[in-house]
Amino acid sequence: MRHAQPEPGAGQSEKTCGWRKKAIRAGARVRVYPYGAITVGQRGEELSDLEGMAESVVAFSDDGHGVQDGELMERAMLRAKALDKLIVAHCEVNALLTKGGCIHDGRWARAYGFPGISSESEWRMVERDIGLVRKTGCRYHVCHISTEESVMLIRQAKAEGLPVTCETAPHYLLLCEDDLQDEGRFKMNPPVRSSQDRDALLDGLLDGTIDCIATDHAPHSAEEKAKGLRGSAFGIVGLETALPTALYESGGDRDCAADAAGGGTLSESAANLQNSRRKTGTRRGRRPDGDSHRCAPCHQPRRFPLAGTRHALCRLAG
Ligand SMILES: [Zn+2]
Repeated sequence: MRHAQPEPGAGQSEKTCGWRKKAIRAGARVRVYPYGAITVGQRGEELSDLEGMAESVVAFSDDGHGVQDGELMERAMLRAKALDKLIVAHCEVNALLTKGGCIHDGRWARAYGFPGISSESEWRMVERDIGLVRKTGCRYHVCHISTEESVMLIRQAKAEGLPVTCETAPHYLLLCEDDLQDEGRFKMNPPVRSSQDRDALLDGLLDGTIDCIATDHAPHSAEEKAKGLRGSAFGIVGLETALPTALYESGGDRDCAADAAGGGTLSESAANLQNSRRKTGTRRGRRPDGDSHRCAPCHQPRRFPLAGTRHALCRLAG
């Protein structure tokens, strides 16, 4: 899953979805599974024509925005459940955000005087939505979790047997606030958090609380990312580096890395979550196509924050 604008969700769904479907069929080199917006224009005010879009999309999401109104989210879940579709949530409570917040509200932000983004702004919405899943029975997936509290809440929800899944992104597994520099390449939403959060995410990945690694790939121009932490746009690229960073994170165990990165957390789990009928290109337990991936780190964009990891794959591949 990469970060993209969901289908807008305006009334005439065949019109709004049709041209995208046509473009995907005509030009896509990879498999594309579109989401439909939960609310019209992702504005969080009224529900989209979920039924009208259901044929064209695999799930509903307002990614980029949290759905602030719990009652609206509950109605979305009821309708998504009736359609047997997944609700995919970007969890962020606007009322808990500080003006100008650009990095994790933690030790580093306080030391250097940056406005922060609290962990609570993420996990409060995870908590609310899990309560709604309990009520509605809707299948529910949380995008790019970054906090220890989110891991704990989702772990409990799974233990309860609720249909809840989640993902995190490579940068939350490899970086924490101690790695920050006042550069735009370290600015993403949610932000990289404390080392305690990072460790909790790794534990969550290992014990199955976190179902997959997704990139939240959000490219910007060099100009947009050249204004330091305060002024740069939110969002980083990650598509090109997800595999090498997952390999790096595996600590050099090639079989484990192949299983985790090639067959499991980066592809198969994501397909399963979306009820995708088509199988992904790799199977659990099989190595990914090593040769085709081997050049990827060399093409790593300079603006990616994980610059130090770029030779990891080459080292592992020997
Ligand atoms: Zn998002």
